[in-house]
Amino acid sequence: MTIAVEFSAVSRHYGDGKQIVRAVDNVSIAVAEGEFFSMLGPSGSGKTTCLRLIAGFEQPSTGSIHIFGKNATGSPPYEREVNTVFQDYALFPHMNVLDNVAYGLRVKGVQKSESYKRAEDALTLVALADYGLRKPSQLSGGQRQRVALARALVNKPRVLLLDEPLGALDLKLREQMQLELKTLHRKLGITFIYVTHDQSEALSMSDRVAVFNHGRIEQVDHPRQLYTEPKTSFVADFVGTANVVSGALALQITGNQQPFSIRPEHISILSNSNMANSGIPNVDTVQNQMMQIAGEVVDIQYHGATSKIEFDVHHDAFTQRLMMVLSNTEHTEAQLPQVKQKLMLCWPKSRMVMLETHGND
Ligand code: ADP
Ligand code: MG
Repeated sequence: MTIAVEFSAVSRHYGDGKQIVRAVDNVSIAVAEGEFFSMLGPSGSGKTTCLRLIAGFEQPSTGSIHIFGKNATGSPPYEREVNTVFQDYALFPHMNVLDNVAYGLRVKGVQKSESYKRAEDALTLVALADYGLRKPSQLSGGQRQRVALARALVNKPRVLLLDEPLGALDLKLREQMQLELKTLHRKLGITFIYVTHDQSEALSMSDRVAVFNHGRIEQVDHPRQLYTEPKTSFVADFVGTANVVSGALALQITGNQQPFSIRPEHISILSNSNMANSGIPNVDTVQNQMMQIAGEVVDIQYHGATSKIEFDVHHDAFTQRLMMVLSNTEHTEAQLPQVKQKLMLCWPKSRMVMLETHGND
C-alpha cells in the first residue's frame, strides 16, 4: 500500500507566550493512495489548517509531512502533487468558465491550445462541457462548485483536497453533489482528502474518517466503526446522536463510574405500566443481557420514518435527559408512550460502548 500523505507528530501553533493557539496539535495520520479520507470536526478544530499544511500554504511548527514518501516539510505548494478545492470557489468573476479552468495552466506556462484542451477535458469530467463560455455569475451554485472542482482537476493532482466544498449548497443539491463526488472519486482513482463539519456527509462518503477536536485527532476509523465503536464521549456525541452516561448514574447502572454511550435506536420500551414508582433508576440484569432503567417521558417528536422520544432518568441528586428512537414501521401511534408517562426502558448490554475517560474537551 502506498501512503499518499503522512503526518508525523505535526503541530501548527499561532502566536506566542500566553496567546498561543494550538490550531493543529500533535497530529499523526497516514492517508493511503486512492482513499476517500475525511477530516470531520466542529468549527475551529483545525481541519482547514491541516489541509493548508498538506497543500503547503502553511508549514508545521513541529513535526514532518511526507507526500508519496518524499519529505515535503518546508517545500512550497507548487512542488506538491496536490490541489485544493476551496469552500468559497474563488473563481475569477470577469473570466469565463473555460478561462477560469485554464488559468492555472497558463500561469505555469502551458501552451494556450494545450491548456484549453485540458480545461475542456476537466469540464467534461464535471459535466459542464457546454458551459465554457459562461461567466461564473451565469451559473447556479452547484455549477460554480463544479467549475472550482474542474479548476483543481485540470492540474491532474494525485491528491485532491476539498475544504467544505458543499457548504454553500442547499440540502438536496448537497446530496446530489455528494453522490457526484463519490462517483468522480471512483472514476479518477486518486486520493481525496475531504474536510467537513457534517457528520452524516463524512459517514456516507468516506473510506475513513478522522475526528478532530481542539486541534487533535480523537479517532480515525471506518465510518461503521466510528459509529458503533466510538472511543471517546466526544466522538460518540459528534458522530450521530448518543446518550453518554457518566459519573453517579453510570455507577448506578453498571456498577462503575466509567462513562458509556448507548445509541437512541438501541433503547426500547420494556413496559409502559407504572412500574417506576420511585423514579430512581432501578437497574436489573435480566439474564445479565439487558440493562434496565426507569424514565419519564418529556417529549415525543414525529420524524416520518421514526419517532424520537426524550425521557428523564431521575437520580438522587440530578436528572439526566436521554433519548430513544423508535421506528414508525414497527410501532403504531397507539403504541407510542405519552408525555409524562413513566416507562421501564431497556437496552442490550452488548450495545453499550465503554468510553475512554480522558478527552480534551
Ligand atoms: P476549522 O477548519 O476546523 O474550522 P481552522 O483550522 O480554520 O479550523 O482553525 C483552527 C484554529 O486555529 C482556530 O482556533 C482558528 O481561529 C485558529 N487559526 C487558524 N488560522 C489562524 C491564523 N492564521 N492565525 C491565528 N489563528 C489561526
Ligand atoms: Mg475550516
